[in-house]
Amino acid sequence: MMQFPQSELLNSLPKQFFAGLVKKVGEYSAQGHDVINLGQGNPDQPTPPHIVAKLQEAAANPRNHKYSPFQGHGYLIQAAADFYQREYGVTIDPDKEVAILFGGKAGLVEIPQCFLNPGDTILVPDPGYPDYWSGVALAKAKMATMPLREENRFLPDYQELKTDTLSKAKLMFLNYPNNPTGATATAEFFEETVKLAREHEICVVHDFAYGAIGFDGNKPLSFLQSEGAKEVGIEIYTLSKTFNMAGWRVGFAIGNESIISAIELLQDHLYVSLFGAVQEAAAEALTGSQDCVKELNDLYERRRNVLIEGLHSLGWNVSSPKGSFFAWLKIPEEFSSEQFATILLEQAHIMVAPGIGFGKFGEGYVRVGLLSSEEQLKEAVRRISDLEIFEK
Ligand code: PMP
Repeated sequence: MMQFPQSELLNSLPKQFFAGLVKKVGEYSAQGHDVINLGQGNPDQPTPPHIVAKLQEAAANPRNHKYSPFQGHGYLIQAAADFYQREYGVTIDPDKEVAILFGGKAGLVEIPQCFLNPGDTILVPDPGYPDYWSGVALAKAKMATMPLREENRFLPDYQELKTDTLSKAKLMFLNYPNNPTGATATAEFFEETVKLAREHEICVVHDFAYGAIGFDGNKPLSFLQSEGAKEVGIEIYTLSKTFNMAGWRVGFAIGNESIISAIELLQDHLYVSLFGAVQEAAAEALTGSQDCVKELNDLYERRRNVLIEGLHSLGWNVSSPKGSFFAWLKIPEEFSSEQFATILLEQAHIMVAPGIGFGKFGEGYVRVGLLSSEEQLKEAVRRISDLEIFEK
C-alpha cells in the first residue's frame, strides 16, 4: 500500500488534544465500567418535535431535492434577521448582513482564511474553544492570546495587550457565554471592545454559540446590541445548542456587511448551501414557538444547581457558571489538570476535560458539562466525595 505524504498545510494543523481522552474513556467503558462522561460538549436532549416534523415534511418536497441557492434560501436568511430583531432588538438587512453556515464551526474556520494573510495576527482567548486554532492554522496566521482570568470574571483585560500586538492584530475572536469558563459578558465590556476595535481597526468575531443559555434570569447579551458593533464585527450564531440541533449543521454569521460578503465569496467556492429541508426546519426553529428554548435553559439551570450545590456540600468550593452548559472548576493546587482528570477517570470513572486542553491559562481547572441527568450529576458528586480529596 502506498503511503501518500500529506501537505505541509495538513501537517501544520494543531493536534486534537481531546482525542486521546475520548479513546481512554472508550477503553474504560469497554472494560464494563459505568463511565459518567462530563468531558464533552454534545447536547443530550432531542431536537424539539415541531422542528423534526418540519424536516420530515420538507424532505418529501421535490423542490428541496434540487440544489439550494448558493447562499441559502431567502426565507431562512429572513428568519435569521427576524430572530435578531425579536430576541435582541437588532435590525439586520437580510440582503447584506446574513450568511448561512454549515454550523458555527464552519464559519469560525472560514473567517481567518477570509481576512488573514500568512503571518498576520489574530487575537484569541486563552482558555478558548480549540476549533479557533484550526482556522488560524489553515490561514497560516499567528495567534496572540488574551488571557481570561478568574479575577477579571474571565473577560480579557485589553490594558494588558501590547500596543504592538494591537496594531498588528486584524481579527479578534470572543465567545460569551464562554466555553470553557461559563462566564458571560457585560454591556460595558462589549462597548469597550467596539472602542478598541475602532481604534486599532480590528475585525471582531463574537462566537455566540451559547447565546440561549444564561442563568439566574439573565439573558446573555448579543455583541450586536452594543452601539457601533456592526461597524466592527459580526456574530456567529448556531442552532446546535439553542434547539438541540448539533447534528443538523446549521448556523449563520450576522452583522458587518463586508465580513458577510467575504464569507459568502469563500463559501461560493467551497460549497452549495445546506439541504433545503434542513433550511426549512431551521427557519421553523427560529420563527416558531420559543417555549422549548426556555425549557432547555431551565433544565441546564437545574443541573447546574445540583452539581454546584453537590460539590459545595463535599467541600469543593467551586464558582457557579453564569451561562453556557459548562462548569469550570478550580482544582486543588497540588494537581495539574491532566493529573486531576486522570484520577477522576481511573478512580471514580468520571470523565472531565482538563483545562490545559483549552490553552495555557486553562491550567488549574477542569471543565464539566451539564449534559447528563441530575441523577448522573448526583452520582458523580457521590463518587468524587468517596475519593476524599476534599475536606468538608
Ligand atoms: N463555538 C463554541 C464555543 C462551541 O463550543 C461550539 C460547539 N462545541 C461551536 C462554536 C460550534 O458549534 P456548531 O459547529 O455545532 O455550530
